[in-house]
Amino acid sequence: MKNEMPAIRKRLKDAKQVIITTHLSPDGDAIGSSLGLHHFLTQEGIPSQVIVPNAFPKFLQWLKGSDEICVFDEDKERAQQLIEVADVVFCLDYNETKRTGPMQEDLDKSMAYKVLIDHHIGNPTWPDINLSVVGASSTCELVYDFAEAYSNGELTLNQDLAYALYTGLLTDTGNFQFSATTPKVHMQAARLIEAGVQPDLVHNHINNSFDELRLQFFGFCVSERMKILKDRGIAYMALSREDIQQFNIQTGGTEGLVNEPMKIANIDVSILLKEDEGKVKLSFRSKRDIDISVFAREFFQGGGHRNAAGGVSFASLAETEEELVKRLNNFNIS
Ligand code: 5GP
Ligand code: MN
Repeated sequence: MKNEMPAIRKRLKDAKQVIITTHLSPDGDAIGSSLGLHHFLTQEGIPSQVIVPNAFPKFLQWLKGSDEICVFDEDKERAQQLIEVADVVFCLDYNETKRTGPMQEDLDKSMAYKVLIDHHIGNPTWPDINLSVVGASSTCELVYDFAEAYSNGELTLNQDLAYALYTGLLTDTGNFQFSATTPKVHMQAARLIEAGVQPDLVHNHINNSFDELRLQFFGFCVSERMKILKDRGIAYMALSREDIQQFNIQTGGTEGLVNEPMKIANIDVSILLKEDEGKVKLSFRSKRDIDISVFAREFFQGGGHRNAAGGVSFASLAETEEELVKRLNNFNIS
């Protein structure tokens, strides 16, 4: 990253408006990396504004600065105005502008200097600077690297910045359990704890903040909706809008649900189908070296990482389920 720093430093110094953007339905890494970068830039005396495409879950709303985030689909005029005048745009945790949903058109039109920091599979050519590392644990890990490189190795971690980055490390590694949890990730986490992060506080906000009904919903999904493809090591759950409404599930309320079937020893792939307005959103998870992003990309217009990917279908829930099972039956999962 060091080589790109002089050019980025100059752009930031000259910039009148810096914005930080992330993907649709922002998760812990998306919000953590965006706020982490925002707090770092603030520390460097560079004002910035975070803009996200749509609302983000309550379990992330305790992070400092989260109440100042501009939500595109709730404050469209202001968001569009900010994108229009921005001279530097940071693009975090995505590598295709279509992942920003309603913001895509404005981002594509923008002539700003675009700096991409991401860890998804892909080889985008549209950013002016591409600081992606495919296979990194999280965008937060890379924002940490960015801050370190920008500070010439003399990074001061303030507590707000530390909490934001720790959140993305925690969520994108599935609580430090996925294979991308390298010694470096633990080293960064250690530094963040030294800077004042209380790990149990973050864990409680993220993982232990269910309301009763949401936990009952998880139970319902596992007991009433989980189907197992015998001998294939595959589990899937297809959820209708009624299922979701019945339990009053809000934005982010299904986060983590796809991981539940992975707790079964001989389940290697888990898939969640979630009916939404006019589409079905799919989440894929796999164990070991099974690259489920290939399947998501090939059949469900999606992508992501080897062990965690997403996709979409514009057919009905029943048709999507049928299509999924058909595709799975012909897919070699080794
Ligand atoms: P999740 O299942 O948690 O929504 O997403 C898992 C991973 O796949 C995340 O890294 C996410 O960014 C990526 N992802 C989710 N949906 C899509 C999609 O529609 N297209 C692509 N390219 N990636 C996706
Ligand atoms: Mn991520």
